[in-house]
Amino acid sequence: MTAKNMDELVALCKRRGFIFQSSEIYGGIQGVYDYGPLGVELKNNIKKSWWASIVYDRDDVEGLDASILTHPEVLNYSGHEETFTDPLVDCKSCGERFRADQVPDYCKEEDLTEPRQFNLMFKTNVGPIEDASSFAYLRPETAQQIFVNFKNVVDSTSRVPPFGIAQIGKAFRNEITPRNFIFRVREFEQMELEYFVKPGSDESWHKYWVDKRLNWWADQGVKSEKLKLLEVEKKDLSHYSKATFDIMYDFPHGLEELEGIANRTDFDLGSHSKNQKDFNIKAKVQENKNSTTKLAIQDLENNEWFIPYVIEPSAGVERGVLAILNEAYTSEEENKRTLLKLKPHLSPIKAAVIPLKRNNSDLVNTANNVKSELQSLGLGRVMVENTGNIGKNYRRHDEIGTPLCVTIDFETLENQTVTVRDRDTMKQEKVSLSEIANYYSRYFK
Ligand code: ATP
Repeated sequence: MTAKNMDELVALCKRRGFIFQSSEIYGGIQGVYDYGPLGVELKNNIKKSWWASIVYDRDDVEGLDASILTHPEVLNYSGHEETFTDPLVDCKSCGERFRADQVPDYCKEEDLTEPRQFNLMFKTNVGPIEDASSFAYLRPETAQQIFVNFKNVVDSTSRVPPFGIAQIGKAFRNEITPRNFIFRVREFEQMELEYFVKPGSDESWHKYWVDKRLNWWADQGVKSEKLKLLEVEKKDLSHYSKATFDIMYDFPHGLEELEGIANRTDFDLGSHSKNQKDFNIKAKVQENKNSTTKLAIQDLENNEWFIPYVIEPSAGVERGVLAILNEAYTSEEENKRTLLKLKPHLSPIKAAVIPLKRNNSDLVNTANNVKSELQSLGLGRVMVENTGNIGKNYRRHDEIGTPLCVTIDFETLENQTVTVRDRDTMKQEKVSLSEIANYYSRYFK
């Protein structure tokens, strides 16, 4: 069973230290959140899992970590300066502003102004002089920095299509109406892959990546029946897209986009390339008078230079966190407990080691040794819970999704066994102290 509503999730996130409102003690900033001790672990684990499946498990993708501050020309030629806008309306009655398609019921139609376009990009000044020429943007997506680094990556790795460049990092959008907790925020992280292919093979690669991404979400515990694939209607496509599939998830507030997978054609590399006329660019691109570099590649079969097409799976980390937490949230009436049935590889704490009595130094020392042994296996955070209340500790670790609790009791001192308790089944089993590291490694394999 998932959470009954968003409030239940928000409460758990705050109570247990997953997510806090940013700058809360000064009243908060709307649409900006901070990740607490457990939130940072969960987020890192999601990103690690994405990176492993996109980069390490394959042999055709390279990684990149580009800057957030972005040269204005990048976002000029990408089309963002012109088109990265949402329609904004004012309500003359309540004085609030809304995205035109998100006006609440309490505003009457006759009180609304005509929609006007509002650009969602954040600007900042670079250097000590503030004038019209000294600004940069905070990137609104990580993708553009991949395109403008295309030649650097190709030259340093000798890649030829099909191959990809992957990046995880912050993106910023000045959303008119941030809402629904971390679903729509102004500062968030994206996990993006730009996969470069030969024109003509783009449609089959598009399908390939849609299937791959659906399977990945299922592996993170987001049930397939809660995901819906939606082909974006032609009239709603972004300016760069030939076709886009949105992976929609049934969030607590409704069915909404979790990830978009777009066929961006040769729009981006074509837009940022010099000597555009030398290539048979299919997309409608603005004439580029500033780029110093050709973003093309030589076809090894016929020696002709061409601009690759791009398939882009683009997922938001925050929306992933929300979907994964919602799926994991389980309330068991019969056992009077709430638990997060997170997939073990995503759990913020992998194991809690609990000495039965907190004042017994033999128990506590043994617990510390077990913790160190498990921690050194490098599978994630292991912690000692030394509060002495075993029932409370089990309940806390159920609620934060810790898959295993290892209890050190008097039997441990007598016959060298520990008690391992499983989060989901609550079953307990005795494991010998000398075997606990193997047991733990096997569990997380
Ligand atoms: P939406 O239509 O919901 O505004 P979008 O189509 O503008 O989203 P994309 O530009 O395709 O989103 O961005 C790729 C992914 O980045 C989205 O699928 C989403 O997971 C994430 N994302 C985009 N905007 C936000 C935001 N304001 N807050 C959190 N995540 C976001």
